[in-house]
Amino acid sequence: MNRRTVTILGATGSVGQSTLDLIERSADRFEVLGLTAHQDVDGLAAAARRVNARKAVIADEALLVPLREALAGTGIEAAAGEQAVVEAAGSGADWTMAAIVGTAGLRPVMTALRGGRTVALANKEALVSAGEIMTDAAKESGACLLPVDSEHNAVFQCFDADQPKTVRRVTLTASGGPFRTRTLNEMRAVTPEQAVAHPNWSMGAKISVDSATLMNKGLELIEAFHLFPLEADAFEVVVHPQSVIHSLVEYVDGSVLAQLGAPDMRIPIAHALAWPDRMETPCQRLDLVSIARLDFEAPDLERFPALGLAKAALGEGGARPAILNAANEVAVASFLDKRVGFLDIAAIGGKTLESFDPPAPSALDEVLEIDREARRIAQDIARNFQI
Ligand code: NDP
Ligand code: MG
Repeated sequence: MNRRTVTILGATGSVGQSTLDLIERSADRFEVLGLTAHQDVDGLAAAARRVNARKAVIADEALLVPLREALAGTGIEAAAGEQAVVEAAGSGADWTMAAIVGTAGLRPVMTALRGGRTVALANKEALVSAGEIMTDAAKESGACLLPVDSEHNAVFQCFDADQPKTVRRVTLTASGGPFRTRTLNEMRAVTPEQAVAHPNWSMGAKISVDSATLMNKGLELIEAFHLFPLEADAFEVVVHPQSVIHSLVEYVDGSVLAQLGAPDMRIPIAHALAWPDRMETPCQRLDLVSIARLDFEAPDLERFPALGLAKAALGEGGARPAILNAANEVAVASFLDKRVGFLDIAAIGGKTLESFDPPAPSALDEVLEIDREARRIAQDIARNFQI
């Protein structure tokens, strides 16, 4: 049997490591062409050695020599720089995992999509910013875009793509994050350490903060809109603190299909890795009796204004999602650096949207230009919030 070739963009991250774990367990089925990272030379070299990757690429150009040294004697090719990451994305792998965080992943994911093979998408910020430009690129090349984000993977498993008109509503579930029951006043003083301590999922720092503000769910509404052919108002969010139901699809006859499972990213990743087949995972099996109960509540837009901003950006369309996403990336980085407070994150997003209203982008370069300018404005705004 021919082994499937794979490339993992963002191999040293949380999703990247979970993907590698599955690949290592089925090493006879996969051949790793490329692994990429930003600055984590040791993590990248160790991963490349473990799966005997053909090539390891570090985005930070200054780290080529340390990467070469870390791979000495292995025969694994080393490369560095943003362009080298893009080239790895275009290496023609049968299956590419897009797990870079933020719009830094946009050019690589577009390159992978243009290759016309299968792209498993974790990097939601790319799709939020580029939207149709990305889905059009997939259509044009015939690439298969598989959602890895747990909610979207759940919807994908329940959604009758041949009969989208039979779907009435898609409900994305949200854990509510670590501050689900905190008051606004209590949230004012929370620290990055508290914000990244997610109750159910273990994830990278940026998405953990997004989960705490509910911006993650807002980005996911926009992501869902681009992945599934329904009107924007057919997508809704319900808070479900146990993170057992990963999302639901309601049909016109009143039937509701949901996907359930342990909160372990290896389940949706395995679904995308084996699709249209299935593969075994070592993940904990669902034990409904020990879970005993499932709770649901409406999201509180007053305490979590980021979700409201994202809903509005989705409704307005055009450049709004890209601006909000860029501002949020800046605001989250500032919060993690302890330069702004937790509640300032959504405020920076809102103020950036107020100050910048360019026309809708129609090509990748225009999205990247809007992203750059929105970041510059958000940086200025963040300076005024400095704590
Ligand atoms: P991590 O922060 O754990 O990992 C990010 C990865 O991207 C790392 O490999 C990092 O390299 C690399 N990277 C960061 N910046 C750059 C850059 N400028 N250029 C090239 N590579 C870069 O993130 P996660 O794995 O948590 O998330 C990845 C994506 O998946 C995000 O878009 C997130 O929203 C999405 N996602 C994550 C989930 C999760 O459970 N973690 C669930 C659903 C979606 P280095 O290690 O060298 O910094
Ligand atoms: Mg998700």
